[in-house]
Amino acid sequence: MRRRAFLGGVAGVGAGALLPSLAHADPQSIPNGPWNQPEQVVQKAALTANTELGPKLEQIAARSKGRMAVEVVGRSAAGWPIHLARFGEPSSGKLPVLIQTQIHGGEPLGTEVVLHLMQTLATSSHPTVRGILDRLALWFIPRLNMDGADFRNAEGFLVQRRQNTQAWTPGEWGLVGGTPAPWYLPRSLLQPGSVSGYDINRDFHPDLTFRLRPGDEPLLPGASELPGFFVTPEARTSAAVFQRLRPWFFIDHHHRGSNTQSETDNQLTTLQVIGLVTQGTAAFPLDPAVRDLSFRVNVLVWDKLRALGNSPFGGITRYPDVELPGTALGSYALNGSGIMLYETRSVAQKSMGMLIRQSLIGMGATLEAVAFDQLDTIDPARYLDIPPAGPSIGNPRSDL
Ligand SMILES: [Zn+2]
Repeated sequence: MRRRAFLGGVAGVGAGALLPSLAHADPQSIPNGPWNQPEQVVQKAALTANTELGPKLEQIAARSKGRMAVEVVGRSAAGWPIHLARFGEPSSGKLPVLIQTQIHGGEPLGTEVVLHLMQTLATSSHPTVRGILDRLALWFIPRLNMDGADFRNAEGFLVQRRQNTQAWTPGEWGLVGGTPAPWYLPRSLLQPGSVSGYDINRDFHPDLTFRLRPGDEPLLPGASELPGFFVTPEARTSAAVFQRLRPWFFIDHHHRGSNTQSETDNQLTTLQVIGLVTQGTAAFPLDPAVRDLSFRVNVLVWDKLRALGNSPFGGITRYPDVELPGTALGSYALNGSGIMLYETRSVAQKSMGMLIRQSLIGMGATLEAVAFDQLDTIDPARYLDIPPAGPSIGNPRSDL
């Protein structure tokens, strides 16, 4: 007889009472894949529209009987509110954990995942939930990139995209005119007629207070293996939250294109994970204890999903090796936070409910293990046992 788990049992094998809204995820999946088909009105499908996000969070907070607080913690480049949802405060001696989603606007499922998770944490009387709330200060930034999440094509249809919407304004930083834009404002988005915008997930710097200043022209445009510049209000907002909370652990949720699991197996990978995105810089070395914490949590999620058996969650692989200190994950790891990246399969497939469940089970297992101090028994070296990514199929674009 399986012990009743607070999310895993609900989402994976039976007992649906703790997370009833999850049942809606499958039938509401968007038919026929992605975003840009004119006959489809995407915001009425399963995904939460920008205009719905704040009200949904307020509704969950109102039902939480004081467990959850919501605030607008910043504004996107285009002026959308960026929300922070807080369960508990680090000042009360609780272990701080931060979960952030949709830093890439076109990678939306993480936001749906955390809405489900917040709903459960706000209302469940399950002992595991109570234990998590007693022991953790758990904060969420759902949908950091509001601009990209609401990005529309010239005809006004919701297409979403990776970048925010923001022009390069060197004068804002006291830099001379003609200073090149950071490399992560793609040249194609600097062309006349295009809507300019940054990849926010390259805009972080391990010095969380870094700002461009007069005389910094030689730093630009920078490069992918170097820190970013905090030119986007979204990255600065996230970093300000990080500095308030100082999380012991940080989870970032993304999507990527489809991969097979190996050369000889055409089964799709459902999830790629990674716990190491930078080796550190001279000024900001990576603490081996932080790296091992990251490895332990990645192994925990890999084990948990594989153990479900008779499920689609066996296809988990390791994200390719990268050196990206300008990502949120990278700069936060260099500030002492253990990290885990979820790169769930593209939502172009009709698998949204399964993909939401997969991340919910992983995050639920992580919160439970952190709250109940169950990580020490995991050998961090097993991280390297997670199979490497197989070949890409279809769009091979790397989405981290
Ligand atoms: Zn991404």
